[in-house]
Amino acid sequence: MTIAENKVITLHYTLTDDEGTVIDKSDDGTFLYLHGAGNIIPGLESALTGKTSGDELKVTVEPENGYGVHDEARKETVPREMFPNDSEIEAGSQFQAEGPDGQMITVTVIAVNDETVTIDGNHPLAGMQLNFDVKVIDVRDASAEEQEHGHAHGPEGHHH
Ligand code: ZN
Repeated sequence: MTIAENKVITLHYTLTDDEGTVIDKSDDGTFLYLHGAGNIIPGLESALTGKTSGDELKVTVEPENGYGVHDEARKETVPREMFPNDSEIEAGSQFQAEGPDGQMITVTVIAVNDETVTIDGNHPLAGMQLNFDVKVIDVRDASAEEQEHGHAHGPEGHHH
């Protein structure tokens, strides 16, 4: 079966940066997504269109088709008092916040001092070229329910 819209794809993938460091990796046979629904980054999704089970491919995704370019305007220094007193804030900690378009984004704390906190609303992988080693494990038709929800359901049914 060929990868196309409304198919559920099981992938095995390894994601590395340009130094070859592994950033992310699927557990065997556990990563599923609904093709054509924007569940995965555009560069990877388009590279997979037309592939079939057993195909192995290397995909290089530029930031524009990945997690976006790094945008300095998304770095911001805000007063320390914007955070609750009891919250633990330190460089490197991450939290969810509402982004400019109302969607949830991951914000990373870059620096903390007594009065201010510097945060970065860029996706942690923004600005990076992403190198995927992908193996297509399985391709099947999406169920009506999956198409309606806009995402794949795991072998045990609903997983959300
Ligand atoms: Zn669902």
